[in-house]
Amino acid sequence: MDIPTFPYAQMDYSLAPSTLYNVGGAAAVALIPRNIEEAHEAYDWMREQDAPKMILGGGSNVLIDDAGFPGIVFFTTGLQALKPLGDHRYYIGAGVDLDHFVQEILLPNNYDGVGGLTGIPGSVGGAIYMNAGTVNGSTCQLMESVHLLKPDGEVTLPMHPELYNYRGQCFCLPGDVILGGTFHCQVAEKDQTAIYNRYIQRRRETQPQGHCCGSVFKNPEGDHAGRLIEACGLKGTRHGGAHISSKHANFIMNDNQARFEDILYLIQLAKDTVRQEFGIELEEEVRIIRAPAG
Ligand SMILES: Cc1cc2nc3c(=O)[nH]c(=O)nc-3n(C[C@H](O)[C@H](O)[C@H](O)COP(=O)(O)OP(=O)(O)OC[C@H]3O[C@@H](n4cnc5c(N)ncnc54)[C@H](O)[C@@H]3O)c2cc1C
Repeated sequence: MDIPTFPYAQMDYSLAPSTLYNVGGAAAVALIPRNIEEAHEAYDWMREQDAPKMILGGGSNVLIDDAGFPGIVFFTTGLQALKPLGDHRYYIGAGVDLDHFVQEILLPNNYDGVGGLTGIPGSVGGAIYMNAGTVNGSTCQLMESVHLLKPDGEVTLPMHPELYNYRGQCFCLPGDVILGGTFHCQVAEKDQTAIYNRYIQRRRETQPQGHCCGSVFKNPEGDHAGRLIEACGLKGTRHGGAHISSKHANFIMNDNQARFEDILYLIQLAKDTVRQEFGIELEEEVRIIRAPAG
């Protein structure tokens, strides 16, 4: 791999502080472009390199190996555009905090969508990639189009319900970068600030605080991963510096300098036990980034 000379490139970049789990070794190279032009430059350089590649937003849904990432991590956090386009439409850069979008655009205008996005950490790009949301709605539902960087260049793709599903989508292929997206907002009838306050309060009551990735597993059809793990008696189970939360069994917390392997152990334990007890295969929502073997 070449040594990048861009002012927004850093070598041997510690990843743990860039994740909400606060776990993970260093990336050989971090590219943190500050605008679309730099994103193009970084992307083109990255594509030429014979090294593993990863895109990272706010790091709220990733668990990274303590051994680090022996390649290039492309951060989208510098893409901070936020442009009103008129007619309740807004272009939001991938690096904007989702909560900033909620607080600065949705709430002041009393736009719909607050119920689905309230209290979700991370970036708008990560929220688009994950189609983050709740039972009350998800990110892609609010979008008119998504702005991507692909090997052929920039693409603006009209959003369509067939392009996304529960915590996923099919428009961002491996190696593609979501640069941002256009949201077409609707003025709501109900008071969105009251909804925001209610859901923030509910999260405080039902979810633990601390280093974690939110829900570790997707909910299986018609059930809740947390209910299944709790029914297996696993709440509070500890391994090393990590434990399955006593407040919400789908949360695995790093409360004492957990290692990558501590959290992986508990993920596997929950999967194995739920499979044995209920015959249900839990699927991870968290993205696990293992250092390539050797
Ligand atoms: C306390 C807590 C509560 C949570 N509650 C919820 C919830 O209610 N609902 C929910 O859906 N999620 C929830 N999450 C999970 C997480 O916040 C969301 O998935 C979030 O949208 C991820 O955004 P991010 O920027 O942090 O993505 P990251 O963690 O940085 O990345 C997640 C994935 O997206 C990819 N990615 C990120 N940005 C881009 C980009 N610009 N282009 C291409 N790929 C990209 C990464 O490669 C990775 O595979 C919660 C997490 C925590 C810690």
